[in-house]
Amino acid sequence: MTRRKLVAGNWKMHGMAADLVEVEAIAAAAARHSGVDVALCVPATLIAPAVARAGALPIGAQDCHAAAKGAHTGCLSAAMLREAGASLTIVGHSERRADQNETSQDAWAKAAAARQAGLSVILCCGETEAERDAGRAERVVQAQIEKSVPEDASGDWFTLAYEPRWAIGTGRTPTLDEIAAIHAIARAKMRQLVGDAADGIRILYGGSVTGTNAPAILSTADVDGALVGGASLTAEKFVPIIDAAA
Ligand code: PEP
Repeated sequence: MTRRKLVAGNWKMHGMAADLVEVEAIAAAAARHSGVDVALCVPATLIAPAVARAGALPIGAQDCHAAAKGAHTGCLSAAMLREAGASLTIVGHSERRADQNETSQDAWAKAAAARQAGLSVILCCGETEAERDAGRAERVVQAQIEKSVPEDASGDWFTLAYEPRWAIGTGRTPTLDEIAAIHAIARAKMRQLVGDAADGIRILYGGSVTGTNAPAILSTADVDGALVGGASLTAEKFVPIIDAAA
């Protein structure tokens, strides 16, 4: 099955009002490429102003709480993010797994809450360096998918992102063969979980994607796009990745 490529940016804890000019420039570039989907996940404080400047570019969040409301100081529900203008959210990012001890079960609950609120979801999985060195990368990713992917996942709202933790922000990437191998395993696992719907679900690669390595990574078997951190912060760095996907 042919799946449209998706290039999604993750600004992490970067971005002030002055950076909204980058949103505009990225939106303009995305509008030039009708054959590729582009989205930008900004800090929650920037969702509403980014939406106001983004035109047709979908603006997303980077996390949501699993509950609809309640005594959770400092947290944001999926419905709040939706109301602020987000159309998608990342869940299960490895930085949240590491910094906030989030589990695959948490990611599952957050994905379900996001779906309930009308948000699309990019759910992240990926092994640590120690797990890869121990030859366990494939088993770790399979287990994460099994525990975190909602049983009603389908391509119209759900995207999986394979992000080896040791590749995030390090400038290091797996080989193309290693990326292809994990993506094939991830797709097979998804098929076990959701059946034929797996064919419509995009699997993105994330971890130190740049304008230089994007053409090769995005041409790798079963890679349906990229989740991009550092290189999504400016149009100058992000647009070549969008170009490579087009
Ligand atoms: C990410 O944060 O999801 C990511 C892939 O970061 P980077 O591109 O900076 O490695």
